[in-house]
Amino acid sequence: MTLFDAVVGQPDAVAQLAGAAAGDSGHAWLVVGPAGSGRSVAARAFTAALQCETRDACGRCAACREVMAGTHPDVAAVSTEGLSLGVRAMRALVPVALSSPSVGRHRVIVVEDADRLTETAANVLLKPLEEPGEATVFVLCAPSTEDVLPTIRSRCRLVTLRIPSVAAVAELLVAEGVDHDTASFAAAAGQGHVGRARRLARDEGARERRAAVLRLPQELGSVATALQAAAGLVTAADEESAAMSGERDAAETASLREALGLGVRGVTVRGTAGAVKELEAEQRSRATRARRDVLDRALVDLAALYRDALLIALHVGGAPVHADQADVAAELARTVTAEALLRRIDAVLGCREAIEANVAPLLAVEAMALALRTG
Ligand SMILES: [Zn+2]
Repeated sequence: MTLFDAVVGQPDAVAQLAGAAAGDSGHAWLVVGPAGSGRSVAARAFTAALQCETRDACGRCAACREVMAGTHPDVAAVSTEGLSLGVRAMRALVPVALSSPSVGRHRVIVVEDADRLTETAANVLLKPLEEPGEATVFVLCAPSTEDVLPTIRSRCRLVTLRIPSVAAVAELLVAEGVDHDTASFAAAAGQGHVGRARRLARDEGARERRAAVLRLPQELGSVATALQAAAGLVTAADEESAAMSGERDAAETASLREALGLGVRGVTVRGTAGAVKELEAEQRSRATRARRDVLDRALVDLAALYRDALLIALHVGGAPVHADQADVAAELARTVTAEALLRRIDAVLGCREAIEANVAPLLAVEAMALALRTG
């Protein structure tokens, strides 16, 4: 058992990283893989292996435990839940990247969201990536190589994660104590996204929201009900993402105000408005990201339902993503031609692209719902 065991269904990537940690570690790595494939899990296991007393991410030595707890003095990790990773965070990393490790074998710098680096921030990274400290190892993560600047990509060794198989995800869930049937359902419905599969296995609310999304094809009877269903989908995504970030925002704002001496009657501190504004901007950016991510997940689910119907219509066979919705998929396959099912899948994927390109979510989802009625 090593910490690499948590990297689900990625034998090639694990062999590559474990080999590097045991031998020539290299100075810069780029770990790419789709959302939920385990980029950050792989980056953490690799980081642990680089510091581990036995170089294999044993999970038991002090170094491994500190890496897992996020307290290892020679590991710096940067990530963002917002839309971008700014220049200030990268400037702070430069002196760290150039310095020698204090206790560990390496100085490891993990940038989990390298795809969200602003161009200026990415440029700040170039020099230390090219000539880092003797014992420094950079580990960058992104969904694909196209998501990072070529100048960054060309300085890194590449590790590619694939979408883990349904069987591998189900096996992981069973190992985590989920019963076999729930694990199979959640692994398939999670479509290779390990975190999503875990939520579906454990969280009744997540299962209910998914079921509500998958009812949409039955709510397209008239233009009015289609628009209503579209609005319902966007509102549900807003509510879910707001629930995810609301409490945290309030706590952060309160603790910052307290630290700045604000909120105490009669006390005003000059120059603090900027800090509060900055936090609020970060929170808005994070909320936008969360709303988009939740909505995107819903659209992925919806596209898969039409895909399940298409498999039936074409008599292809193959395991459905939404096994619990087999009746709905069969009904769609009976009433809609294969060509029209393909157009519907396109409409859903087009909606995802529009939202990623900053089209207002409600507008994009309404357009999609209308296309799903007639397409
Ligand atoms: Zn260890």
